Amino acid sequence: MDSQRRHPKVFSCEFFPPNTDEGMLKLFAAREALMQMQPAFFSVTYGAGGSTRERTLQAIQTIQAHSGVDAAPHLTCVASTRAGTREILAGYRAQGIHRIVALRGDLPSGTREFGELRYANELVAFIRAETGDHFHIEVAAYPECHPQAPNTERDLLHFKHKVEAGANGAITQYFYNSDAYFRFADDCARLGIDLPIVPGIMPITNFTQLARFSDSCGAEIPRWIRKRLEGFGDDRDAIRAFGLDVVTDLCRRLLEGGAPGLHFYTMNQAGPTLAICERLGLTAPSNE
Ligand code: FAD
Repeated sequence: MDSQRRHPKVFSCEFFPPNTDEGMLKLFAAREALMQMQPAFFSVTYGAGGSTRERTLQAIQTIQAHSGVDAAPHLTCVASTRAGTREILAGYRAQGIHRIVALRGDLPSGTREFGELRYANELVAFIRAETGDHFHIEVAAYPECHPQAPNTERDLLHFKHKVEAGANGAITQYFYNSDAYFRFADDCARLGIDLPIVPGIMPITNFTQLARFSDSCGAEIPRWIRKRLEGFGDDRDAIRAFGLDVVTDLCRRLLEGGAPGLHFYTMNQAGPTLAICERLGLTAPSNE
């Protein structure tokens, strides 16, 4: 974990591109409120296969224009071509975007062809070959192992290849067990991987939605947390209060243990992330 302590702390927030104008306004209001935590950047996800290409760009342009904070589009390579990816990168460069989160993505349902770049390491290498050092590249990391990896050691080696292809930093899948993160960071240090690995943090606000996400992306909700959340039934206030305690404790342990920052999966809501940051003392004091 000592290798992580060398990196300055970076806080960031992630949004998804909404389908509607109303959703877009909600995203911009959340972005405005989240400025209190002085994030290093806001990122916006990308629908694998290009389904959100225009909306991701629209959200990124507005964030970049209005917040003065870096905006980082996610970019996936699954079901894509080199030519299409080249075009997107050229567009981002022309917009003055300097940061990107590079991912493989998951094959959209109904699509059979993986595309010309099969894994995220190939996408990172392609971005470097096409654009040199223009982009600061973030990649994904999986402290609890990627669900399609045959085992943790192989997943770690794949992660190493992705870093060696030219990544500057990594953001993890969310997790609720800090030991998984610390062990992963130690394993990376053992393999000579030295870049900031920022924990991805998913606030807990809705158990049904969280359980569905977690099953699909391989993130474990520890039994004691799952049981408590189940027990709250439809009591949203109880779920939020318990979730706030659990996730704030997790963040505190991660930061005290040397994690180089936190990346919040905001789900386009400012409240849950800000509540955690306020408890951690990470929000800027009010001017009043
Ligand atoms: P990779 O690093 O390519 O790894 C995928 C799997 O392939 C792993 O099991 C790995 O071990 C294995 N692997 C890697 N290289 C090789 C190789 N050479 N040979 C054999 N196996 C190999 N998805 C989206 O669609 N849009 C988003 O915006 C998005 N944002 C994300 C942001 C973060 C921070 C995270 C953690 C995930 C995000 N995802 C997103 C989900 C991500 O696309 C999926 O988890 C996907 O399954 C893997 O993407 P990856 O970039 O980690 O893939």
